[in-house]
Amino acid sequence: KQLGEGTEKVMKTQCPYCSVQCSMDLLEEKIVTRKRFKAKPNKKDPTSQGLMCIKGANAHQHVFHGERITHPLLKIDGEFVRIPWELALEFIAHQFKTLQEQYGTDTVGVYGGGSLTNEESYLLGKFARVALKTKYIDYNGRFCMSAAATAMNAAFGIDRGLSNSLSEIPDSKCIILVGTNIAECQPTILPYFRKAKKNGAFIIVIDPRETATSKLADLHLQVKPGMDAYISNGMLKVIMDEGYLDKEFIQNRTNYFEEIKEQIDSIDLLETAKESGVSVEQIVEAARQYGKAASGFIFTARGVEQHAHGYENVRQFINLVLATGKIGKYASGYGAITGQGNGQGGREHGQKADQLPGYRSIENEKDRSYIAKVWGMEESELPRKGVSAYEMMEKIDAGEISSLFVMASNPVVSNPNSIFVERALQKLQFLVVADMFVSETARMADLILPSSTYLENEGTMTNLEGRVILREAKRKPPNEVKHDWQILCELANALGCDTGFTYKSAEDIFNELRVASKGGRADYSGITYNRLREEGIFWPCPKVSHPGTSRLFDDTFAHEDGKALFYPLKKPLLMEIVTDKYPLYLTTGRIMEHYLSGTQTRRSPDLMKRYSEPLLEIHPETAAKYGIEDNTLLQLQSERGSMIIRSKYSDKIRRDTIFAPFHWGDSQSINRVTDPTLDPFCKMPEFKVCAVNILPLLEK
Ligand code: SF4
Repeated sequence: KQLGEGTEKVMKTQCPYCSVQCSMDLLEEKIVTRKRFKAKPNKKDPTSQGLMCIKGANAHQHVFHGERITHPLLKIDGEFVRIPWELALEFIAHQFKTLQEQYGTDTVGVYGGGSLTNEESYLLGKFARVALKTKYIDYNGRFCMSAAATAMNAAFGIDRGLSNSLSEIPDSKCIILVGTNIAECQPTILPYFRKAKKNGAFIIVIDPRETATSKLADLHLQVKPGMDAYISNGMLKVIMDEGYLDKEFIQNRTNYFEEIKEQIDSIDLLETAKESGVSVEQIVEAARQYGKAASGFIFTARGVEQHAHGYENVRQFINLVLATGKIGKYASGYGAITGQGNGQGGREHGQKADQLPGYRSIENEKDRSYIAKVWGMEESELPRKGVSAYEMMEKIDAGEISSLFVMASNPVVSNPNSIFVERALQKLQFLVVADMFVSETARMADLILPSSTYLENEGTMTNLEGRVILREAKRKPPNEVKHDWQILCELANALGCDTGFTYKSAEDIFNELRVASKGGRADYSGITYNRLREEGIFWPCPKVSHPGTSRLFDDTFAHEDGKALFYPLKKPLLMEIVTDKYPLYLTTGRIMEHYLSGTQTRRSPDLMKRYSEPLLEIHPETAAKYGIEDNTLLQLQSERGSMIIRSKYSDKIRRDTIFAPFHWGDSQSINRVTDPTLDPFCKMPEFKVCAVNILPLLEK
C-alpha cells in the first residue's frame, strides 16, 4: 500500500524533539479497525527543507502509547491512585501553602524544561514568581545552553543561538565545528554543510571521536576531551603571527584586544599541541584555513560547552571569530547549536533563575520594574535571583527546599551525579510532577499531573536559528489530560491568584509575552499568531511591520557602545585527572535515535528497535587491556557511583577515552557517574569529562 493511500486525516505539525523543529504532515490511515500513522516531511519548510530524521518520523508513537498518564494520580501507600482534577489542585495548593507558612515562600521550588513552548516557559516563570512567590526556579536547559548563552551575552550583549540563518552556510568558505555532532543530533541541517563543502568550503571538526559529522571534515582535530580551548588559542597565535587579523574590525567593532595581545604572543605552540593532543601542523593548518577564508563560521555545541570551564571555552572560540572579523556579515558568524526543541525560546522568557521574560535580568532594577508592571505587582514583591538546576538539588538535600514542582523535565536522569539527586529528591516533603508518562522522576512524586503532547498542544517554539514558529494543535488531549499552561493557570487560581492567570488560549499568553519582551534583549513584540500562521519570524522583531532579523550584528553589537568584547586567554583545567583507580576519561553525549532523558523516545517501539540500550563506545585495544569483550555488559565506576552498560567496540575513539549516551535511567543512567562540578559563570556541570574505571560483568 502506497504512503497516503487511504489517508483519513492529514495533521500538519512539527517534530517535538530537537532544535531544528522540522515540520511534517502526519497521515492518519485506518486499516480495518486499527489506525496507522505515517509522517511525511514538509518540502516547503525553510529550515529542514523537506527532511526529517528517524526521531521525527516516529515522534507520534509516544502520543498513542498505552503508558500515557491520562488522569491526575496521587500516591497512597506507595501506589498511584486516580483522583479528580479539583482534588488534585486543591491538595497541591494546600500542601504548598502549608509548607510555605511553615518554612517561608522559598521552600517551594519550580523546575522546568527546554521543550516547553514559549508561552509555557513564560507562564512557568510567572507562576513561580507571582503565584508561589518563590525565588527558586530553574530548568534543564541549564545543562544544555547555559555556557554558550552566558558567553554570547557577555561577548555580544545578546544570546541568540545562531548569529545568521542556516541558509547562509552553503556560501561560507571555512566552517569550524567544535564539539558538535550535527549528523546525529540535528541531522536535517547536515545538507547545509554538505552544500558548503561542495561549494569549496574547508571544514574543520574538533572532536575527540570520529563521528558521522567528522566524516565531512577536511581536517579533523581529535582533541583530548576538555582541551579544546588550547586549539582555539593556538590558532589565534598563528592568525596573529601570520597576519590574518582583521585590524579594522578589531579597531572599530571590539574592545579589549590590546589587553590580550601579549597573552596571544606568549602562546607556546608545542605546549598547545602537547596539551590538546593535536599536532602543531594541524593547528597551523586550521588557523591558516580559517584566517585566510573570505568568510567563515564557528559553531560550538555541548562537547565544548558542557564543562566546568564551558563558559570560558566558548569565549575563546568567540575571540577567534572577533579577531578575524568573521561576524556581522553574509556567510560569516558564530553559532551555538541548541539541543532541545525550544532550547532557544525556553531560555528567553523567564524560567531561568536569573532571568525575566524577554531575556531581562532579574537583578536589573529597570527590568524588574518593567516586568512587575506587566504582572501587576510592586517591584519589591518580585523575588530575587535563585540558584541553578543542580544547586536546587543541593538546596533540597540541605532541607532549604522542601517541595518541588517539576514540569516537562526528568531531573533524576538528566542531572549529573544522579545517585545524589535521587537521594535528595527522596527528602522532599512534597513532589509534584507534570508529565506525559511516569518518568523516573514522576515515579518518586506524591502527585502526578497528566500533560499534553506536541500533537495536542498549541504554542510557539523558537528554533536554533532564532526563528519563532507556531505549532498548532491537531488533536484533542485524551481523557483528562490538560495542557501545561492550563495546569499552571488552574494551579495559580487554586493558590489564590484571581487575576493574572485567566488566559483562554496559548495566543492570549503569547500576547502578554509580546508586551513583556518589548524592549528586552529577545524582543518578540512585533510577532503575532496571525503573522506566524503565514511564516516563521526571526527575533528581534520590535514592530508588527518589522520583517524580523535573520542576521545579527551587521552594524552593531548589543552592548551599550555597540562593540563586542574579547576575553582573556585561559588554559582549560580538567576537574578530574585519570589515576590508577580511575584510568579512563569518560565523555557523554547524544545519539540519533533518542532525545534527552528518553521519556518519550524510549516509548517509541521503532526507535527502541534501532537502539534499545546504552552502548559504551570503547577502542578495541583499550577494551582488551581491561578484559572487556565486544557486546558484553560491564560496570562503569567513578568516584560518585556505578552503572551497567554494554560494550561496543569502536576504533573511532581515542584510546584514553570512552563514550556513552545519556538517554537512559536507573542502573543504565550514565549520570550516576558524571561529575557535578559547576562552571562558576553559568553553572553548567562538568558532564563531558570524568575519570572512570571499567570492570567486566560475568553475564553476557
Ligand atoms: Fe528534525 Fe530534530 Fe525532529 Fe530529527 S529530531 S526530525 S532533525 S526536529
